[in-house]
Amino acid sequence: MERVLFLLLLTFLGIQPNPITPSVTESARAAASNNVQFQLPSCSYSAAMPGAGYQILPQPAPVSPRQQQLFDWFSPWAIARNPVLQTMRFPILVLDGEKNARAGAFGIAVNPQWFAELDEDITIGIYAHELGHVSQAYRLIPVDQFAMQYGAEGQADYFAGTLLKASRQFSPAQMQKFIDWVTPSAGDQTHAPGRIRADLMRAGYSNTP
Ligand SMILES: [Zn+2]
Repeated sequence: MERVLFLLLLTFLGIQPNPITPSVTESARAAASNNVQFQLPSCSYSAAMPGAGYQILPQPAPVSPRQQQLFDWFSPWAIARNPVLQTMRFPILVLDGEKNARAGAFGIAVNPQWFAELDEDITIGIYAHELGHVSQAYRLIPVDQFAMQYGAEGQADYFAGTLLKASRQFSPAQMQKFIDWVTPSAGDQTHAPGRIRADLMRAGYSNTP
């Protein structure tokens, strides 16, 4: 079941090209309206509350210099794996109506009020997870053992660990801080309980040179 969902997700997410930089204008507008138009459930950091409505607004979310460093490392890595990305720009948009982050082929959307409450390291960890979903959408990472066993969310968690290590954005202490933040979460239909998410992130970090 999880595998089918994951493959469906890849199929759905594979349709809308766009960029990972906060500089957004027309492409963001188009991306946001596409997203609303398709009414597709984008991958989220945690599942939305039942019945809660959310909206991705066609306006850029604020991105700090340290957050930008993660995107700056990711972009050439992604382009090396899928050169078509060179011509695209991925917006970081405003997510309204839920304390969450969402991502897909359109780019990433985050709730700025929620991010303002969080430690900056935590926001960078969340962005790393969301970049995992962007990587899934553009086939930058294969459907591997983590995807098969833990679904798209588990693979994004593992990917976050690998990205945070490879990009040198997180020291072991920063990785531990993010893991400590994730661990208490209960999990939901698509997300494993926090301790499993923590294990996946830790494994991704440890297994990356
Ligand atoms: Zn996710």
